[in-house]
Amino acid sequence: MTSFPPIREELRGIEPYGAPQLDVPVQLNVNENPYGPSPEAVADVAAAVATAAATLNRYPDREFTDLRRGLAAYLNTSGGSGITPEMVWAANGSNEVMLQLLQAFGGPGRSAVSFAPTYSMYPEYARNTMTEWVTGHRAEDFSLDLDAARRLVEERRPSVVLLPSPNNPTGTALPPEAVTMLCEAAGEGVVVVDEAYGEFRRSGTPSALELLGAHRNLVVTRTMSKAFALAGARLGYLAADPAICDAIRVVRLPYHLSAVTQATASAALRHAPELLGNVAELRAERDRTVSWLREQGFTVADSDANFVLFGRFADRHAVWQGLLEHGVLIRETGPDGWLRVSIGTADEMTAFRDALTIVMKTEQ
Ligand code: PMP
Repeated sequence: MTSFPPIREELRGIEPYGAPQLDVPVQLNVNENPYGPSPEAVADVAAAVATAAATLNRYPDREFTDLRRGLAAYLNTSGGSGITPEMVWAANGSNEVMLQLLQAFGGPGRSAVSFAPTYSMYPEYARNTMTEWVTGHRAEDFSLDLDAARRLVEERRPSVVLLPSPNNPTGTALPPEAVTMLCEAAGEGVVVVDEAYGEFRRSGTPSALELLGAHRNLVVTRTMSKAFALAGARLGYLAADPAICDAIRVVRLPYHLSAVTQATASAALRHAPELLGNVAELRAERDRTVSWLREQGFTVADSDANFVLFGRFADRHAVWQGLLEHGVLIRETGPDGWLRVSIGTADEMTAFRDALTIVMKTEQ
């Protein structure tokens, strides 16, 4: 051993993933829902947690039965139909769901495919599970070149294909024919459509949940962190063939979902219409932001999510820093020359537009 601690060679010197957590007035950097829960939802969550607290000497329900029932019922109102609790699995954020998928279906001698630019955690799950990471590339407008994508999948035969829709950080949604084609091309491999931002999609863009009946190898993941306004609770989930949920059971830690998490998420699901009540407003604010940025002469990716990728800057870091100095925190992510802004309240977006106008004047 040459140095301490004896960390795996490929992890040596690597910085942990994470956006800067800075205490500034306008936080538009991690795609959260800017609207907090109502007093009624807070009271209900608190009461459910109090009930759970009285049982904390015991391990929680390992199969999180109530929660799965609630999640299945919700999915059937959110683009899915015929989804049963046996088809639902959940963990501490969809990050953990994704890691479990790679633990179960990836591993040494196997590969996972995705198409860049995409969510920067995917290669980390692959690295941590010793799964070979294979990257295809998106077209200039960040859409998928379907023929090239199919060829890559047929050539590499990955055991997992990761397809976020809408994609982070570009906001690009996948057409249903792309999901169908890749589920067929993947053969025995599983195709994971990550719909973390699914509830924000524009009308006319269907959810991949609709295709679950047609493809046994399709997995659709969702999260309560975004549209559901529950990022602090850490609850992500998936819908898939029950055999896929059974396979994940083999790799999950015992009692991975705490009684407090289960109680919180189940109570929040009872307030779904209200917690999701600002989605329409956030979508409208997103569309206004895209139009405004285009009017200012920026290049802007079409977005089906609660964030917008825009550019192109010769020095994106200077623009990011300038905005921060005006109290607005956005994200320096995506291809070089682009920045990503999450959609906040109308007042927060006014602050963003005002700050960007000033910063661009000084940049010129
Ligand atoms: N998928 C995508 C595409 C994301 O952007 C994120 C969060 N940034 C996640 C999954 C994970 O979210 P969570 O763990 O909070 O569910």
